[in-house]
Amino acid sequence: MSEIAPRIDVHVGDITKLAVDAIVNAANTSLLGGGGVDGAIHRAAGPELLAECRTLNGCKVGDAKLTKGYKLPAHYIIHTVGPVWQGGGKGEAQLLASCYRRSLELAVAKDCRTVAFPAISTGVYRYPKDQATQVAVDTVSAFISQNAVPETVVFCCFDQQTAELYQQALLRLAGA
Ligand code: ADP
Repeated sequence: MSEIAPRIDVHVGDITKLAVDAIVNAANTSLLGGGGVDGAIHRAAGPELLAECRTLNGCKVGDAKLTKGYKLPAHYIIHTVGPVWQGGGKGEAQLLASCYRRSLELAVAKDCRTVAFPAISTGVYRYPKDQATQVAVDTVSAFISQNAVPETVVFCCFDQQTAELYQQALLRLAGA
């Protein structure tokens, strides 16, 4: 049995509602808001979030930047920019893994004990969900096996089918 899986939770729901130390936003390179989870986070956090994002000079694909959470129950928001799926031959997997690692590094720097991720790149950026799930689970499990914080990582899925992909990947991890 893996000792990693107990530190990973799968949750179905709206990430803006989670009272964790940090939630991760699947942003775009401008960091100035967009649709999907990005739009939901900006609406819930309020206009002060956009004001802070304007000071950050954007973010590269695969990188992450941290802001306060403003009106969210979460203390911080870690904005990361996932790759747009272009068939898999353009370094998408490495870039997506980098999103998870860089986000976790920023969470560690703020001593976040609980961090929640959405399924980065799987919406308008069209990354195939099964492949994105595998990258997410592999990268997060490798990171937490080497770091005491975060104590818990939540994969926040918008729907039950996505949550099942995570559960299956975690079962494979536990059996490895
Ligand atoms: P990207 O541009 O990185 O593809 P999207 O926001 O379009 O980002 O989608 C990323 C994932 O976030 C999708 O799987 C989508 O279903 C999910 N999602 C959208 N809104 C929310 C929300 N409020 N909470 C959690 N997940 C969400």
